[in-house]
Amino acid sequence: ETQADSEMQADFLLRTGRVVDESEPKYPKFLSMSSEEARLKTFQNWPSYVRVTPKDLANAGLFYTGSNDQVKCFCCGGKLMNWEPGDIAWNEHRRHFPDCFFVLGRDVGNVALES
Ligand SMILES: [Zn+2]
Repeated sequence: ETQADSEMQADFLLRTGRVVDESEPKYPKFLSMSSEEARLKTFQNWPSYVRVTPKDLANAGLFYTGSNDQVKCFCCGGKLMNWEPGDIAWNEHRRHFPDCFFVLGRDVGNVALES
């Protein structure tokens, strides 16, 4: 496309209010998984060979994708898998996605389970 084209496109996006600040992505990525209880429910078919418990994973903001031992964070959308004995859900989440707002303790609308 030509320079003029992209300028027109930019102008269009501005006028229609579709320009978003990319430095401030919208969280959480998976609004329906904001509640720990909802996340816990996704682990019904969690493989029994995985040593990390659904309780710990859900508590760390993670829900089960239904494939192998792959989980995702409701907030950053980060994917974690190949859990090994001794892995701690929170630690892995923090190690791989240190910029996750949930990891950082920001208010992202998490609804914790009552303990
Ligand atoms: Zn995260």
